[in-house]
Amino acid sequence: MLYGEIKLEPWMIFSSKEHFLGVLRDFCIQEGFALTPDKHDSKRFTARCYQKQCNWRIHASMLMDGVSWAIKSLTGEHKLCGRLDANPMVSSEWLCKKLMEDIKSNPDYPVEGLQERCRVMFRIEVKLRLLYKVRNMAKELIHGGFSESYDLLPAYADMIKRTNPRSYALVTWTKEIVGATPHFKSCFFSFGCMIKGFFEGCRPIIGIDGAHLSGTYKGQMLTAIAIDGNNEIFPIAYGIVDGETGDTWHTSSDA
Ligand SMILES: [Zn+2]
Repeated sequence: MLYGEIKLEPWMIFSSKEHFLGVLRDFCIQEGFALTPDKHDSKRFTARCYQKQCNWRIHASMLMDGVSWAIKSLTGEHKLCGRLDANPMVSSEWLCKKLMEDIKSNPDYPVEGLQERCRVMFRIEVKLRLLYKVRNMAKELIHGGFSESYDLLPAYADMIKRTNPRSYALVTWTKEIVGATPHFKSCFFSFGCMIKGFFEGCRPIIGIDGAHLSGTYKGQMLTAIAIDGNNEIFPIAYGIVDGETGDTWHTSSDA
Protein backbone atom coordinates (compact mmCIF):
# COMPACT_ATOMS: atom_id res chain seq x y z
CA MET A 1 0.00 0.00 0.00
CA LEU A 2 1.42 3.37 -0.99
CA TYR A 3 -0.05 6.77 -0.27
CA GLY A 4 -3.01 7.49 -2.57
CA GLU A 5 -3.14 3.93 -3.91
CA ILE A 6 -6.42 2.86 -2.31
CA LYS A 7 -9.74 4.11 -3.55
CA LEU A 8 -13.08 2.92 -2.16
CA GLU A 9 -16.30 2.89 -4.17
CA PRO A 10 -19.82 1.55 -3.65
CA TRP A 11 -20.13 -2.07 -4.79
CA MET A 12 -16.47 -2.86 -4.37
CA ILE A 13 -16.34 -6.54 -3.46
CA PHE A 14 -13.98 -8.15 -0.94
CA SER A 15 -13.14 -11.82 -0.47
CA SER A 16 -14.05 -11.78 3.24
CA LYS A 17 -14.94 -9.55 6.15
CA GLU A 18 -11.27 -9.51 7.28
CA HIS A 19 -10.23 -8.46 3.77
CA PHE A 20 -12.76 -5.60 3.82
CA LEU A 21 -11.71 -4.41 7.31
CA GLY A 22 -8.02 -4.59 6.34
CA VAL A 23 -8.51 -2.47 3.21
CA LEU A 24 -10.74 -0.03 5.12
CA ARG A 25 -8.04 0.44 7.78
CA ASP A 26 -5.39 1.01 5.09
CA PHE A 27 -7.73 3.53 3.42
CA CYS A 28 -8.41 5.47 6.65
CA ILE A 29 -4.69 5.66 7.45
CA GLN A 30 -3.94 6.76 3.90
CA GLU A 31 -6.59 9.50 4.06
CA GLY A 32 -5.63 10.49 7.62
CA PHE A 33 -8.92 9.99 9.43
CA ALA A 34 -10.26 7.53 11.99
CA LEU A 35 -13.57 5.71 12.34
CA THR A 36 -16.30 5.35 14.93
CA PRO A 37 -18.19 2.11 14.25
CA ASP A 38 -21.98 2.30 14.57
CA LYS A 39 -22.97 -1.29 13.78
CA HIS A 40 -20.51 -4.13 13.67
CA ASP A 41 -21.60 -7.76 13.58
CA SER A 42 -20.92 -10.86 11.52
CA LYS A 43 -23.10 -9.68 8.59
CA ARG A 44 -22.84 -5.90 8.42
CA PHE A 45 -20.60 -3.00 9.26
CA THR A 46 -21.50 0.69 9.47
CA ALA A 47 -19.11 3.39 10.58
CA ARG A 48 -18.67 7.14 10.43
CA CYS A 49 -15.82 9.58 10.61
CA TYR A 50 -14.32 9.98 14.08
CA GLN A 51 -14.85 13.78 13.94
CA LYS A 52 -18.33 14.51 15.25
CA GLN A 53 -19.13 17.33 12.81
CA CYS A 54 -18.19 15.23 9.73
CA ASN A 55 -20.84 13.50 7.59
CA TRP A 56 -18.63 10.76 6.04
CA ARG A 57 -20.28 7.29 6.37
CA ILE A 58 -19.59 3.79 5.09
CA HIS A 59 -21.86 0.78 5.09
CA ALA A 60 -20.83 -2.71 4.01
CA SER A 61 -22.38 -6.12 4.39
CA MET A 62 -22.00 -9.81 3.63
CA LEU A 63 -23.16 -11.02 0.21
CA MET A 64 -25.55 -13.91 -0.53
CA ASP A 65 -22.66 -16.40 -0.78
CA GLY A 66 -22.08 -15.95 2.97
CA VAL A 67 -18.36 -15.19 2.57
CA SER A 68 -17.79 -12.16 0.34
CA TRP A 69 -18.43 -8.63 1.48
CA ALA A 70 -19.35 -5.50 -0.48
CA ILE A 71 -19.48 -1.77 0.21
CA LYS A 72 -23.16 -0.85 -0.06
CA SER A 73 -22.90 2.89 0.46
CA LEU A 74 -20.26 5.54 0.86
CA THR A 75 -21.57 9.03 1.59
CA GLY A 76 -20.40 12.45 2.77
CA GLU A 77 -16.97 14.00 2.65
CA HIS A 78 -14.31 15.12 5.09
CA LYS A 79 -14.69 18.84 4.55
CA LEU A 80 -13.08 20.23 7.68
CA CYS A 81 -11.47 17.13 9.20
CA GLY A 82 -7.84 17.61 8.16
CA ARG A 83 -5.29 14.83 8.64
CA LEU A 84 -4.99 13.40 12.15
CA ASP A 85 -1.46 13.82 13.52
CA ALA A 86 -1.68 10.60 15.47
CA ASN A 87 -4.19 8.27 13.84
CA PRO A 88 -5.68 5.78 16.35
CA MET A 89 -6.20 3.38 13.41
CA VAL A 90 -2.40 2.87 13.36
CA SER A 91 -1.90 -0.12 15.65
CA SER A 92 1.29 -1.99 16.47
CA GLU A 93 -0.07 -5.03 14.58
CA TRP A 94 -0.74 -2.91 11.49
CA LEU A 95 2.75 -1.36 11.61
CA CYS A 96 4.32 -4.76 12.16
CA LYS A 97 2.68 -6.08 9.00
CA LYS A 98 3.61 -3.03 6.94
CA LEU A 99 7.23 -2.82 8.14
CA MET A 100 7.87 -6.59 8.18
CA GLU A 101 9.87 -6.65 4.92
CA ASP A 102 12.12 -3.78 6.07
CA ILE A 103 12.80 -5.46 9.42
CA LYS A 104 13.30 -8.85 7.76
CA SER A 105 15.99 -7.36 5.51
CA ASN A 106 17.68 -5.74 8.52
CA PRO A 107 16.57 -6.90 12.00
CA ASP A 108 18.45 -3.97 13.54
CA TYR A 109 16.82 -1.39 11.25
CA PRO A 110 17.19 1.88 13.25
CA VAL A 111 13.83 3.01 14.66
CA GLU A 112 14.53 6.52 13.31
CA GLY A 113 14.76 4.94 9.85
CA LEU A 114 11.46 3.12 10.34
CA GLN A 115 9.89 6.40 11.45
CA GLU A 116 11.07 8.00 8.19
CA ARG A 117 9.69 5.03 6.18
CA CYS A 118 6.28 5.63 7.81
CA ARG A 119 6.42 9.31 6.85
CA VAL A 120 7.30 8.55 3.24
CA MET A 121 5.11 5.48 2.66
CA PHE A 122 2.01 6.38 4.68
CA ARG A 123 2.42 10.07 5.61
CA ILE A 124 1.99 9.21 9.27
CA GLU A 125 3.92 10.24 12.38
CA VAL A 126 4.75 7.28 14.60
CA LYS A 127 6.40 7.61 18.02
CA LEU A 128 9.82 5.98 18.38
CA ARG A 129 8.60 4.16 21.49
CA LEU A 130 5.94 2.37 19.42
CA LEU A 131 8.48 1.54 16.70
CA TYR A 132 10.77 -0.16 19.27
CA LYS A 133 7.80 -2.35 20.22
CA VAL A 134 6.93 -3.03 16.57
CA ARG A 135 10.54 -3.99 15.73
CA ASN A 136 10.57 -6.46 18.64
CA MET A 137 7.19 -7.90 17.58
CA ALA A 138 8.47 -8.39 14.03
CA LYS A 139 11.70 -10.01 15.25
CA GLU A 140 9.68 -12.41 17.42
CA LEU A 141 7.61 -13.38 14.41
CA ILE A 142 10.76 -13.86 12.31
CA HIS A 143 12.97 -15.68 14.81
CA GLY A 144 10.54 -16.89 17.48
CA GLY A 145 10.57 -15.47 21.01
CA PHE A 146 13.17 -15.77 23.77
CA SER A 147 11.31 -18.69 25.35
CA GLU A 148 11.35 -20.71 22.11
CA SER A 149 15.07 -19.98 21.74
CA TYR A 150 15.86 -21.14 25.29
CA ASP A 151 13.75 -24.26 24.63
CA LEU A 152 16.03 -25.09 21.70
CA LEU A 153 19.24 -24.96 23.78
CA PRO A 154 19.36 -28.68 24.78
CA ALA A 155 18.93 -29.70 21.12
CA TYR A 156 21.61 -27.16 20.13
CA ALA A 157 24.01 -28.61 22.74
CA ASP A 158 23.36 -32.14 21.43
CA MET A 159 23.97 -31.01 17.87
CA ILE A 160 27.28 -29.34 18.80
CA LYS A 161 28.50 -32.55 20.47
CA ARG A 162 27.37 -34.67 17.53
CA THR A 163 28.84 -32.52 14.77
CA ASN A 164 31.92 -30.93 16.40
CA PRO A 165 34.23 -33.56 17.93
CA ARG A 166 35.99 -32.63 21.18
CA SER A 167 33.53 -29.80 21.93
CA TYR A 168 31.97 -29.09 25.33
CA ALA A 169 28.30 -28.20 25.42
CA LEU A 170 26.30 -28.18 28.62
CA VAL A 171 22.86 -26.88 29.54
CA THR A 172 21.74 -27.04 33.18
CA TRP A 173 18.26 -26.69 34.64
CA THR A 174 16.89 -26.12 38.15
CA LYS A 175 16.24 -29.28 40.20
CA GLU A 176 13.11 -31.14 39.30
CA ILE A 177 10.43 -30.60 41.92
CA VAL A 178 7.08 -32.38 41.64
CA GLY A 179 4.48 -30.04 40.19
CA ALA A 180 7.02 -27.41 39.05
CA THR A 181 8.54 -27.08 35.59
CA PRO A 182 12.35 -27.05 35.67
CA HIS A 183 13.81 -23.70 34.61
CA PHE A 184 16.91 -22.86 32.63
CA LYS A 185 19.90 -22.22 34.90
CA SER A 186 23.00 -21.98 32.77
CA CYS A 187 24.68 -23.09 29.58
CA PHE A 188 28.28 -23.40 28.53
CA PHE A 189 29.80 -23.92 25.10
CA SER A 190 33.32 -24.42 23.82
CA PHE A 191 33.93 -25.72 20.33
CA GLY A 192 36.69 -28.24 19.63
CA CYS A 193 38.46 -25.76 17.34
CA MET A 194 38.53 -23.15 20.14
CA ILE A 195 40.27 -25.56 22.50
CA LYS A 196 42.69 -26.72 19.81
CA GLY A 197 43.42 -23.11 18.78
CA PHE A 198 44.11 -22.09 22.36
CA PHE A 199 46.64 -24.87 22.94
CA GLU A 200 48.31 -24.54 19.56
CA GLY A 201 48.31 -20.84 18.79
CA CYS A 202 47.76 -18.71 21.90
CA ARG A 203 49.77 -17.50 24.88
CA PRO A 204 48.98 -19.43 28.07
CA ILE A 205 46.90 -16.63 29.60
CA ILE A 206 43.11 -16.65 29.87
CA GLY A 207 40.97 -13.55 30.31
CA ILE A 208 37.50 -13.90 31.79
CA ASP A 209 34.64 -11.45 31.95
CA GLY A 210 30.86 -11.21 32.27
CA ALA A 211 28.39 -8.96 30.46
CA HIS A 212 24.83 -8.29 31.57
CA LEU A 213 22.15 -9.39 29.12
CA SER A 214 19.31 -6.97 28.49
CA GLY A 215 16.83 -9.44 26.95
CA THR A 216 13.63 -10.70 28.54
CA TYR A 217 15.33 -13.12 30.95
CA LYS A 218 18.40 -11.05 31.88
CA GLY A 219 21.33 -13.07 33.32
CA GLN A 220 24.94 -12.70 32.31
CA MET A 221 27.07 -13.90 29.48
CA LEU A 222 30.49 -15.15 30.61
CA THR A 223 33.33 -15.37 28.14
CA ALA A 224 36.84 -16.75 28.39
CA ILE A 225 39.33 -15.42 25.84
CA ALA A 226 42.99 -15.69 24.97
CA ILE A 227 45.33 -13.65 22.75
CA ASP A 228 46.58 -15.32 19.58
CA GLY A 229 49.88 -14.89 17.70
CA ASN A 230 48.55 -11.79 15.88
CA ASN A 231 47.62 -10.12 19.18
CA GLU A 232 43.95 -10.63 18.36
CA ILE A 233 41.26 -11.75 20.79
CA PHE A 234 40.65 -15.49 20.52
CA PRO A 235 37.46 -16.82 22.19
CA ILE A 236 37.84 -20.08 24.10
CA ALA A 237 34.46 -20.57 25.71
CA TYR A 238 31.25 -18.76 26.52
CA GLY A 239 28.20 -19.37 28.60
CA ILE A 240 25.07 -17.81 30.03
CA VAL A 241 24.36 -17.87 33.77
CA ASP A 242 21.90 -16.21 36.13
CA GLY A 243 24.68 -14.20 37.80
CA GLU A 244 28.48 -13.94 37.75
CA THR A 245 29.62 -15.72 40.90
CA GLY A 246 32.47 -18.05 41.75
CA ASP A 247 29.92 -20.83 41.70
CA THR A 248 28.70 -20.16 38.15
CA TRP A 249 32.25 -19.89 36.81
CA HIS A 250 32.96 -23.17 38.60
CA THR A 251 29.88 -24.92 37.09
CA SER A 252 31.10 -23.91 33.65
CA SER A 253 34.62 -25.13 34.24
CA ASP A 254 33.28 -28.47 35.56
CA ALA A 255 31.51 -29.17 32.29
ZN1 LIG B 1 -14.23 13.30 8.38
